Amino acid sequence: MAAAGADSLVLTHLPNIFYLSGFTGSNAILLILGDVMHLFTDGRYTIQAHEEVRQAQVHIVRTSLAEACGGFCRSRSRRKRVRLGFESASLKVAEWTRLKKAAGPGIQWIATTDLIETIREVKSAEELDIMRQAARIASEVVAEASEFVRPGVAELEVAAEIEYRLRRKGASGASFETIVASGPRSALPHAHPTEKLLQKNELVVLDLGAILRHYCSDLTRTVYLGRAPARIRQWYEAVEQAQEAAHDALRAGVTAGSIDRAARRLLHKHGLGSYFVHGTGHGLGIEIHEGPRVGRAQKRRIRAGNVVTLEPGIYVEGVGGIRIEDEVAVHAGGTEVLTTAPRGLLEL
Ligand code: ZN
Ligand code: ZN
Repeated sequence: MAAAGADSLVLTHLPNIFYLSGFTGSNAILLILGDVMHLFTDGRYTIQAHEEVRQAQVHIVRTSLAEACGGFCRSRSRRKRVRLGFESASLKVAEWTRLKKAAGPGIQWIATTDLIETIREVKSAEELDIMRQAARIASEVVAEASEFVRPGVAELEVAAEIEYRLRRKGASGASFETIVASGPRSALPHAHPTEKLLQKNELVVLDLGAILRHYCSDLTRTVYLGRAPARIRQWYEAVEQAQEAAHDALRAGVTAGSIDRAARRLLHKHGLGSYFVHGTGHGLGIEIHEGPRVGRAQKRRIRAGNVVTLEPGIYVEGVGGIRIEDEVAVHAGGTEVLTTAPRGLLEL
């Protein structure tokens, strides 16, 4: 906050509010004034807020949260001017307008970005423990793929089965819309599952994750229905090697970009570089996509406590796609792969 020039901070991004206060409701503003946190929420969350929130004063409000929070700031800014940071990536213009009106003239507004997100990138031992379990749930489900991935089943059915099994194993839900992409559709990195039936002799990309105690996991495996032809095997091995190269490059202190380039170099060597159309990975935690981003031009340094995915893939229009994604935690002395599902090409 000091570096951003703010002495106080109004938070509107719910994952940040959860991170700092423990509150999981869907309507809240968190105000950090001096060294006291104030949580504003509405009457639906009276009991929940008092149960969950430990380190903030809870204000149950009847007006809009922005008005209540703004009014509170006004009462505090009478004696001294408040330099109030706000989250420019999440605060909507309409809400900001209401806040400003209610807060009055004694406030200097300071746009900030990623203040809390940067802290969230470094996971505590407790967070890592939850993330390990969330990764294990996803790994277990994908290891059961032979029970429900077969020709004649619709992509949507497979997705439903995956999400059902995630919940059966203790997840509160899927950490994003499960991707089941078969045949030529597997060349779409972010395909939505459709009514298309899986067929023999095609690739199927399964990308899934669990939410456990508010933390996400993320895992991709690629299946071939039948015996894979030589070309598919070669591609698969290239992607596997690219992931290994990224993993070898991953450690505390290196730039995120160098990890991406390690994977990319490998695919280029196999003549597949132009089919790798996205970044190598991303951080995750309370949200499915967090920092650090593992992309080509990222100069940010990897820190101990980061958890990132390594997910190189190739996408060939008209043929299909192959992606292998694992979650890796970075420790001071090495790395730890959190996703435990077998990594080889699964032929079903
Ligand atoms: Zn994924
Ligand atoms: Zn991912």
